[in-house]
Amino acid sequence: MVTRKPRVVIVGAGVAGLTAARRLGAAGGGDRFEVAVVEAGARAGGRVLTSEFAGHRIEMGATWVQGVDGSPVYALARDAGALGSRSGNKDEDGDAAGSLPYERMDGFPDRVLTVAEGGEVVDADRVARPVEELYRGMMEAARAGEARGGGGVEEYLRRGLRAYQAARPAAAAAAAGGENKELEEVEEALLAMHINRERTDTSADDLGDLDLAAEGEYRDFPGEHVTIPGGYSRVVDHLVAALPPGTVRLGLRLRRLDWRGSPVRLHFADGAPEITADHVILTVSLGVLKASLGGKDASAAGAIAFDPPLPQFKREAVARLGFGAVNKLFMEVEPAEAPGPEGGGGQPPEFPFLHMAFRGHVAKIPWWMRGTESICPVHAGSRVVLAWFAGREAAHLESLPDDEVIRGLQATLDSFLPGPPQWRVKRIKRSGWATDPLFVGSYSYVAVGSNGEDLDRMAEPLPRGSRGDDGRASPPRVLFAGEATHRTHYSTTHAAYMSGVREAERLLQRYR
Ligand SMILES: Cc1cc2nc3c(=O)[nH]c(=O)nc-3n(C[C@H](O)[C@H](O)[C@H](O)COP(=O)(O)OP(=O)(O)OC[C@H]3O[C@@H](n4cnc5c(N)ncnc54)[C@H](O)[C@@H]3O)c2cc1C
Repeated sequence: MVTRKPRVVIVGAGVAGLTAARRLGAAGGGDRFEVAVVEAGARAGGRVLTSEFAGHRIEMGATWVQGVDGSPVYALARDAGALGSRSGNKDEDGDAAGSLPYERMDGFPDRVLTVAEGGEVVDADRVARPVEELYRGMMEAARAGEARGGGGVEEYLRRGLRAYQAARPAAAAAAAGGENKELEEVEEALLAMHINRERTDTSADDLGDLDLAAEGEYRDFPGEHVTIPGGYSRVVDHLVAALPPGTVRLGLRLRRLDWRGSPVRLHFADGAPEITADHVILTVSLGVLKASLGGKDASAAGAIAFDPPLPQFKREAVARLGFGAVNKLFMEVEPAEAPGPEGGGGQPPEFPFLHMAFRGHVAKIPWWMRGTESICPVHAGSRVVLAWFAGREAAHLESLPDDEVIRGLQATLDSFLPGPPQWRVKRIKRSGWATDPLFVGSYSYVAVGSNGEDLDRMAEPLPRGSRGDDGRASPPRVLFAGEATHRTHYSTTHAAYMSGVREAERLLQRYR
């Protein structure tokens, strides 16, 4: 009798899905499982997407390796030869694209120019730096689990600023007179700027909705945060190259998952033939799962119909956790006029690392521009500059035509950098994660009302208890991987990686 290999179908060819497939192949010697990765999109990589703009290599999604010491993603980038040399822009393998300048976001934080709306440079030593130190210190305390008061992060930070202002010696405040009020207003605008930064870091639209206690559980790897000179997508290519040809099947969008019994049945969009599996590892984003909560006949964009519906504990975790929109907006800029002889001795002007304290003074600046912290060159001297947006602003940005975005940017630059030189926005390129039905947002966070246990619930296989002590009676039919299933590193590529390993190991243990 020929024994059939267990068939594992992995849904999603992002970092989590590809890693699970690789682990099942490598750890099983390639012959213990029949593995397929089905991916709705026309490419592998998911929220990792390297692109090009104005002669630069840019990241539309994952950008940083958040801590290099012990990071499996950093190790993959190194193995892929994508780290390049520290001194130049060439890839280790010297491919043609290796000569492109890349998005390395250098210059932070010491070369920052902080400007208040209207164009007034904020005194770095007396005003900008102390508020930045306050913000950083408070977030570090929160991440060390030392923050008190509970609730959301925004109120926590605002309490901190109020205490800081109240502690200003009365004599100094009195001496400043009317200026003290003005100073406090600028400090509040600076805190709002840092809050915008935190919104993009976490994807929470409203920091009032970001759970303070959960921040104490979140972990990065130690060491530097770096970008990948050869492009983040090289990590994906490296993962795909480790799989037997044909493992990844593109253009197959799961519409209905019938997990009533074994085998599990996967039904796809556009009439693609059904596939059956002993085990399904589902790696779709939390945004896709939220869209799927409509039930058996889920009709929201990107939704998957579960039959039977996901059990209550899973539905509640999906509903409670946060999944926000974060978008990147790149623009190519040029000085509006060639500098005169006094304009830098013939040196081409450099766009500054601009931090913006919005104060609501300039009517022409649209509301959605007020949600960004900074507009910065992707590296010193570059004419490609970048702004990050989160939440409502990020989602709104996706709905605007290019010319309206350019007008909004131009009004902002004219206000914050009145010149000379004045900077003109030539063209833009932006991501659009919120309206993409394959993602329905950018990354996850622990919202107020949720906690780390919900992330653990996200990772639990179905039927529930299937990983139990006598697990053999009810083998796990649907397993869950993806960044939103990792309790301490959620929202990152390394969380996706580690979750893929975890679910592959779950199956390997079972068939040991
Ligand atoms: C703007 C932005 C910036 C980021 N910056 C960073 C950063 O600096 N550092 C960092 O570590 N992380 C960052 N991230 C997060 C990181 O990209 C993700 O955490 C990680 O890539 C998620 O991988 P995943 O495999 O869990 O999910 P995904 O990459 O979402 O993979 C899931 C796959 O499932 C597919 N899919 C969806 N629906 C279906 C369906 N019905 N049928 C079949 N396939 C389907 C999708 O097309 C996708 O390919 C960023 C993300 C964004 C959007």
